[in-house]
Amino acid sequence: MVRSVAINPPKMCQPMGAILAYMGVHGCVPLVHGSQGCSTYPRYNIARHFRESAEVAVSSLSEDAAVYGGAKNLTEAIKNIKSRLNPEAIGICTTCMSETIGDDVKLISKKALQDDPVKIFPASTPSYVGTHLTGYDNALRTLVETLAVKGETNNKINIITGIINPGDIREIKNMLRIMNVSSIFLSDISDTLDSPILPGGHKPMLPEGGTSLSDIADSANSLGTIAICRAAGSAATYLKNKFNVPAVLDPAPIGVTSTDRFVRNISRLGGASISPEIVIERGRLIDSMVDVHHYMFGRKVAIFGDPDIVSAIVRFCAEAGMAPTVAMTATRHKDFAPDIKAVNSEYKTDTQILEGTDLYEFHEVVKTHGAELIVGNSKGKDIADDENVPLVRVGFPVYDRVGVYRYPIMGYNGSIYLLDQMTNAILGHRYDPNKLHQ
Ligand code: SF4
Repeated sequence: MVRSVAINPPKMCQPMGAILAYMGVHGCVPLVHGSQGCSTYPRYNIARHFRESAEVAVSSLSEDAAVYGGAKNLTEAIKNIKSRLNPEAIGICTTCMSETIGDDVKLISKKALQDDPVKIFPASTPSYVGTHLTGYDNALRTLVETLAVKGETNNKINIITGIINPGDIREIKNMLRIMNVSSIFLSDISDTLDSPILPGGHKPMLPEGGTSLSDIADSANSLGTIAICRAAGSAATYLKNKFNVPAVLDPAPIGVTSTDRFVRNISRLGGASISPEIVIERGRLIDSMVDVHHYMFGRKVAIFGDPDIVSAIVRFCAEAGMAPTVAMTATRHKDFAPDIKAVNSEYKTDTQILEGTDLYEFHEVVKTHGAELIVGNSKGKDIADDENVPLVRVGFPVYDRVGVYRYPIMGYNGSIYLLDQMTNAILGHRYDPNKLHQ
């Protein structure tokens, strides 16, 4: 039976993702063209997850805009941002209301700025379609479509991360540094959403860091693009079709196989050899899997979150000898079910696939298929409590623990950290011994 209600869906609307994409651009202020709450709730989630204040502007539409259009509000908002923050760029994302009104955001913003050199990125992010990942994808493609321009080859690799943590981005940068490969991150929140307090206690209104506009322009001249979030890979496809930049859309580098693929992709596109340091990191991951095998073998784990991250964690759990029982994502993606089926086939696991659904259904399937551990964001806490199993917090948002955004779960090092987290969660939990390995 088809349900016409979603109960606790682990997804957010498009502007949430678009804001995160814009926040990874140096000197860029996200502007939500919609009602007050359309910016308040993303800001609230960003503040709780990253423990950073988020400068997100809003055109603050109300009833009159629904009748007469939102041009006046959007024009005022752009002028206010310009005079108060003087940013290099403004990233606009639309909302349910402005999309329904049908405002011509490109034209309105052009008129508002006239000859002002500030860059405007007008992404269409209607929230009644897709999820936060669709919004991230739309905003990122808008950035690249607006700025990318053909020039001389730059010997860099573009990396499209999707919505991952600053700790993951830093770990991926570390791998690229070890392999001596230069990169352009599309985009990069590793500093903007994890910024230091410098001597004197000063934090600038617009944080340091983020991908520069010139680097985004230069992404057309890279050796290739690797998207480790296939649900946000349309900018890679655009660069391939328009500028002939080879595109690789691959699973997130979590666990042995997926990280091996990532390393091979970097090596192939960047013409770099796989350095001994990378081989040693890989070896440490294998060793960590051996170390915990007697604790984790056969452990039932249920995983939910964004599709590329869930499918990579499912594979990693299977590699580690665990028994993934449920894989759930609220964001539909064509690769999700085939990814999980491939793991089931290779590792003889029986992971149930739930796609485009909610945590109510996830919980029902967890009850029937069992879980000794749940992996997902903070929205899984009540299910974990009900089932008396631990929750290892990954993904976005995590608001009931601190510091999760600082630590990687990607790359060989991040995978070690994730496995340790899962093992310690099992070891630290008071179980009914009769329930173990049922
Ligand atoms: S779903 Fe629509 S109305 Fe609600 S916050 Fe998102 S954009 Fe705004």
